[in-house]
Order: sequence, then structure tokens, then C-alpha cells
Amino acid sequence: MKECRLILGDQLNENHSWFHTVSPNTFYLFVEADSEVRYVRHHIQKVKAIFMGMKAFAKSLVEKGHIVEYIELNQKDNQKSISANVIQFCQKRKIDKFSYQLPDEYRLDLELQNLCKILNEKGVQTEAYDTEHFLSPRDSFKTIFPKKSYRMENFYRYMRKQYNFMLDSSGEPWGGQWNFDAMNRKKYDGKIKIPSRKWKPSYSDEVLQRIPRKWTMGEMPTEGIIWPITRKEALNRLDEFLEIFLDGFGDYQDAMLEESPYLFHSCLSFALNVKLISPKEVIERAIRTYEKKRNQISLSNLEGFVRQILGWREFTRGLYWAEMPSYQTLNHLEHQRELPSWYWTGETKMNCMSYSIRQSLHLAYAHHIQRLMVIGNFSLLYGVNPDELDKWYLGIYIDAFEWVEITNTRGMSQFADGGKIASKPYVSSANYIDKMSNYCKNCAYDKKTKSEVNSCPYNSLYWHFFDRHKKILEKNPRIGMVYHTWGKMNSAEKKRILARANWILENGESL
Ligand code: FAD
Ligand code: SF4
Repeated sequence: MKECRLILGDQLNENHSWFHTVSPNTFYLFVEADSEVRYVRHHIQKVKAIFMGMKAFAKSLVEKGHIVEYIELNQKDNQKSISANVIQFCQKRKIDKFSYQLPDEYRLDLELQNLCKILNEKGVQTEAYDTEHFLSPRDSFKTIFPKKSYRMENFYRYMRKQYNFMLDSSGEPWGGQWNFDAMNRKKYDGKIKIPSRKWKPSYSDEVLQRIPRKWTMGEMPTEGIIWPITRKEALNRLDEFLEIFLDGFGDYQDAMLEESPYLFHSCLSFALNVKLISPKEVIERAIRTYEKKRNQISLSNLEGFVRQILGWREFTRGLYWAEMPSYQTLNHLEHQRELPSWYWTGETKMNCMSYSIRQSLHLAYAHHIQRLMVIGNFSLLYGVNPDELDKWYLGIYIDAFEWVEITNTRGMSQFADGGKIASKPYVSSANYIDKMSNYCKNCAYDKKTKSEVNSCPYNSLYWHFFDRHKKILEKNPRIGMVYHTWGKMNSAEKKRILARANWILENGESL
């Protein structure tokens, strides 16, 4: 029986059981599809890294004796979509069976199910396989949250117990605590030097040339991209992180610094999301490193890192499959504003936004707090339409795949899901940004005032946000204090703050 096995650009898992045996009747198919490049405007580095990763993975399969068919973007017979290419390939090679690994995006899940129907009608058998990547099944929320009341902390504890990660013999968490989050909120004070990264950028002119620049956004550094495109590179990055950066990770997880885009972050999200490395091996290696170096690495740093992967990453996936497709239409706060055009250039006088956007355009990367408490925070206060913002986040970041992007953007950052992922909206005034970064030092706006012509936009928008959403948010027990403070402010001051906020909302382009 001749079998065609499709490998998507985010399924570069060389340890998948598919590859345990080599067969002359199994064809591995890779497709660079227009439809995948163009469903949103992606960062050039993202498209390039995925194509380079696919090419390298295809080559490694050939070296192991597998049969590979690789359809390049500009190849004459490229049928533009994944489905049309698969149909053409199955006809050409007289394929009896088509197999695929379950995709992580709803859009592709539907496309591949439809494709299977078409192939079945043509007499081709079809089968879907698990990706063997995640630590929890797609439908984990059905068992863990039968009442649909999702909480990450409960999920995380459940997963720690399932995998016996960082538990003592009686099942209690190491250090007597499940969560050391309260210790992980330090501003970077320069006490520990941030080591430099020893990354070798990779380049491929051949791949770059076939990606029409007008389909993409962002910058392509002449020296190449710094994202790992092979498993070996990804494992090197993981080793470097565990050896050098893990001990600063948790402590400075929320810190932001103009001089250092990465601080102590792992920069592993791309390698994880395209499945070059697995979450299980990342966590196990991190725990082993901690066990070897107990006197150098603090438990709070290890726990902080494991929580992101075992907790947040798996949790967002569970939420995605539990709530799609309706999740993509949620707009709880009914925000409708368009993105100001400077989201695409970084040309704004707000230093925190300008720095974070320019960095994102330059590196296709921003760390979590830049995404959440600078860009996401401003977008929510300003009232951006979550559809627009989703497209922006899905396009700009190297690691952006819908299952993890939309849950973080629409859910955690924009509260558009009404609190399925976060119990209250993540908003702040300049106070938080100033506490956690050095952005305000170089800003044209005054971080301290609220209603002057040069007052920081976050300061008045913050109050405008709570004032305009009073009906929806007032009863939230985690927000009570905010309304208490607003209620106590004198009405002339309130008027001035709201007037400044209204000016900002009407003049977003000129900020
Ligand atoms: P580190 O800070 O080193 O964290 C280690 C790993 O933990 C990451 O590689 C990632 O796999 C995982 N992780 C950390 N936080 C989260 C989280 N909130 N959700 C899921 N996994 C997490 N992450 C993506 O992978 N793709 C996205 O498209 C994406 N979009 C985001 C959009 C918004 C608005 C926000 C607030 C966060 C988003 N995140 C996304 C989560 C997080 O910001 C990135 O995973 C992280 O910045 C990647 O950098 P890193 O590898 O250096 O992560
Ligand atoms: Fe951002 Fe306001 Fe600080 Fe400027 S003053 S960097 S706009 S928080």
C-alpha cells in the first residue's frame, strides 16, 4: 500500500513514531503553500524560519533513507493550498492512503478533515495521528474542568501530579509550595550581569528569494536569523539557557530593559512550537540541571520556568480546543477601535511602545511582559478591536501559532473572553511599567501626571477604561479597590483625566 504522510511546517518532530521505520512505500510530503503564508501578514523571519526548518527536516529524513517530496512555494506545479497539493500528489503517485498528524490550529483541522472527505470519495483511505508532542491531550479540559471553570493554577497542579514533576515522595511540592510567583517579580537591578548570547545566525538566500516581500512584514537582518531551525540548534539553545540563564529566569521574568531584549528568557518558544524539541524533554532537562546545581540555581527559578511550559503552554492549548471556534469571535468589552498605523513602524513618542514594537519588528520577538503589559495593556486601554489585534500578534511574532496566540491575546491580554483565562483585565498605569523597566526614563511623556498635555497616555486611559466598563467590571472582587479609589477622587480631577483620555482616543495616530 502506498502511503502519503503530510508534514506541516510546525510538525518538525524527528522523534515521532512515524520515523521509527523506513519504507519504500511511504512518501513524506512537505508543502510550502501560498495559503499558509498569506492567511495573515507574517513577519519575514517567521516564514523564513519555518521554510528553513522544513527544508532541513526534509533533508534529515532523506539522509535516514525516507522518501521525501518537497513542494517549494514558487514551483510551477504548486497548487497554492495544502489540500490542492495533496490531491495532486495523491493522483500523481497513485496513493492508497493519506495520513496526517493532528494540526494545532482549528483552521487547518477543518481543512484537513474536508480534504479527507474528498480523498475518501476518490477511494483513498485516510488516517489522523497524534503529534506526540504535548503533555496533555487536546481535550484535556473535558476531564480536568468538567464544569468549565478554568483555572491555570489547578491545571498546573494536576499536571505536576500526573507527571510527578518536582514532588517529594509523599506527593508534596518541592520547597513546600506549588508556586513561587511572588518571588518572580523583580525589577532588573544590575546585581547579576546578563550574560551575552553566543548565537550563530543562519541564512538561506535560496529560501528568502522565493518569499514575496510584500506578503510579509518586519525586518530581515542581513546576518541572518537567530532562531534555531534544526533539532541540534534547538538543543544547543536549551543547554545554553539551562547552564547560563535559568538562575536569573524566574527572578527577572517580568523585568524589561532597553539594553537587553531577552534578559534571562529562554527564547525557546519557536523551537517548541514547531516541535523541534518537546516540552517533556525541556522540563526534564531543567529539573536535572537544577538537581546537579542545587547550590547555584534557586528552586523559585526552576519552578517559574516549569510553570510556563507545563502550566501556561499546555493550559492555553487545552483552552483553545475547549472553546474554539466561538473563542475567535469573543469581544466581551465590545472594543472596536482600529490599530494606530504606528503599530507597524514603532513611530510613537511613547517610549515603551516604540521600543517594544521596534524590537518586535527587528527580532520577531518580545518577551511576555512586553507583549502583555506594554503592547497588550495599551491596546486594551485604548479599546482596540481584538480581531485586529489578533492578526497583528499572529503575524509579528516568531512563535505565533493560533492555539497559543489567540488564547494569550484575546484571552489573557484583552479580556475579550470575559475572564476564561484571566480573572481580571491586565491593565496598569505608567506606575507598573516604570517599576519593571527603564523605558520611562527616556520618554517624551510624563509618567507621574494624568491630565496634562504631556501626561503619560496610560495614566488617563487607565481610569477611562474602568470608568467606561463600570457596569461589567465593578462587581469583580479583584477590582473593588480600583472603583473605591476612583469614587474617592474629586469630580474636577476626574473630569480632567477623562478629558485627557478622550483627547488621546481621538488622536491615537499622533501619540
Ligand atoms: P520564556 O519566557 O523563556 O518562557 C519559556 C516558555 O514557556 C516559552 O518558550 C513558552 O513556550 C512558554 N510560555 C511562557 N509563557 C507562556 C504563555 N503565556 N502561554 C503559553 N506558553 C507560554 N507564546 C507563544 O508561544 N506564541 C504566541 O503566539 C504567543 N503570543 C502571545 C501574545 C500575548 C499577548 C502574550 C501576553 C503572550 C503570548 N505568548 C505567546 C506567550 C509568551 O509571551 C511567549 O511564549 C514567550 O514570550 C516566548 O519567549 P521565550 O521562549 O523566551 O519564553
Ligand atoms: Fe510608556 Fe508612559 Fe513610561 Fe512613556 S511614561 S515609557 S508612555 S509608561
